[in-house]
Amino acid sequence: MVSRETPLLTLSNISKRYGQTVALQEVSLELQHGEVLALLGPSGSGKSTLLRVVAGLTHPDEGALTLDGREITHVPSHRRGFGMMFQQFALFPHRSVARNIAFGLEMHRWPAIEIQRRVTEMLELVGMAGYENRTIFELSGGEQQRVALARSLAPEPPLLLLDEPLGSLDRRLRERLVEELREILSHVSTTAI
Ligand code: ADP
Ligand code: MG
Repeated sequence: MVSRETPLLTLSNISKRYGQTVALQEVSLELQHGEVLALLGPSGSGKSTLLRVVAGLTHPDEGALTLDGREITHVPSHRRGFGMMFQQFALFPHRSVARNIAFGLEMHRWPAIEIQRRVTEMLELVGMAGYENRTIFELSGGEQQRVALARSLAPEPPLLLLDEPLGSLDRRLRERLVEELREILSHVSTTAI
């Protein structure tokens, strides 16, 4: 599709090697505002590396990234402020659902009253209204994934990055949640990979 809008995100000739392993070779792509991009490929094909490069957790050997037309290749991860639903950023199991969702908002120093409102709103969005005070231990795998999604969406990130967000769930649950995920993402008009 040809568009004259400035893309939200561009990758230009991104390459990343780990020793002899070429994880990414001259990857270029454009993502428009509101677009949801799915990366498909076998294990080891570089999907996680690409997401980590976009997140700013890994730096490419070559190539450049822009956000809204501005180069961000050397901008650190915390300044990009992208939402991340990655395996390595697991929920805090002993904390309540509300505290988990509030985590990013507290980091951004949102006022307490705003945090409370946002947590309630996010729980409604993912179909878990009333679960504020449960701990993560007390949730099913599917519910945990919904909380993780709520947590990553709460600070209204310009871009949401999901790395196999449903990978740990059994097939039936995965098939159901993938539909829900699609609905939630289109409802909040988030740009996502
Ligand atoms: P995918 O997510 O598609 O399974 P990855 O991006 O995790 O693929 O991995 C791509 C390639 O890069 C693989 O060959 C993997 O072994 C290698 N790789 C990924 N991360 C590292 C790392 N930190 N150090 C060394 N090799 C890595
Ligand atoms: Mg991976």
